[in-house]
Amino acid sequence: MFIDSHCHIDGPEYDADREEVIARARDAGVSMMLNVGTGDPRSGSFERAVELAERHSEIYAAVGVHPHDAKLFDGAAEQRLLDLVRQSKRVIAWGEIGLDYHYDHSPRDTQREVFRQQLRLAREQNLPVVIHSRNADEDTITIMSEELTGHQRAGVLHCFGGSLAMAERAIDLGFFISFAGNLTFKKAEDLREVARRLPLGRLLIETDCPYLTPVPFRGKRNEPARVVETARCLAGIHDRELEEIARTTTENFCTLFGVPLG
Ligand SMILES: [Zn+2]
Ligand SMILES: [Zn+2]
Repeated sequence: MFIDSHCHIDGPEYDADREEVIARARDAGVSMMLNVGTGDPRSGSFERAVELAERHSEIYAAVGVHPHDAKLFDGAAEQRLLDLVRQSKRVIAWGEIGLDYHYDHSPRDTQREVFRQQLRLAREQNLPVVIHSRNADEDTITIMSEELTGHQRAGVLHCFGGSLAMAERAIDLGFFISFAGNLTFKKAEDLREVARRLPLGRLLIETDCPYLTPVPFRGKRNEPARVVETARCLAGIHDRELEEIARTTTENFCTLFGVPLG
């Protein structure tokens, strides 16, 4: 039994075969998925993510304004997010939120301000956070430690690609670290070394699909069933049975997000 802790199957990439994708995940042993709603807050994407979770018992939702869209965050977006969080028990996390200095789709000062604001909102709603950080490790960890001190429900650094020091500082704050399909890439030796040095009790696995399709499926659209490849990679790195990786990452997910074991 596996959990895909971060996917985007509400998007248009899956409009033609979404139910088949969900069925294939089930057949592959993926018993739960956390679908993360992103995009322009006015586009209906958050509502779409929550509706998907409402219709499927194995899918949960996270909603939040992605750092790419930080410039679109305003009072109306905040209200829409709060309404969804309060209306649906299927929303189990706030995110993805954070900083992306690789693409810089929103000005950095706006990204930082919106990140802080959403960390505060998540704390008020007692929700764990899903954090996206790219080329912004120092600012991400600084803001996390300033805003989340004493916060009981921390969160996850999703699609981790940072340094061992960054991962350890996040773990010290109570966070979990999630690895995606890029862990399996040929050139990802450094990332695998980071994964090897982190405690299994703090790790999650994800696809971040439709992106980051793992080896040996690279070049194809990604989907939740493929989270098994990242689990297999992690099993090799930690020299454990695949079943143990599945069990531990599932337990970690349930602990962090407060959901019952499927
Ligand atoms: Zn992300
Ligand atoms: Zn994502």
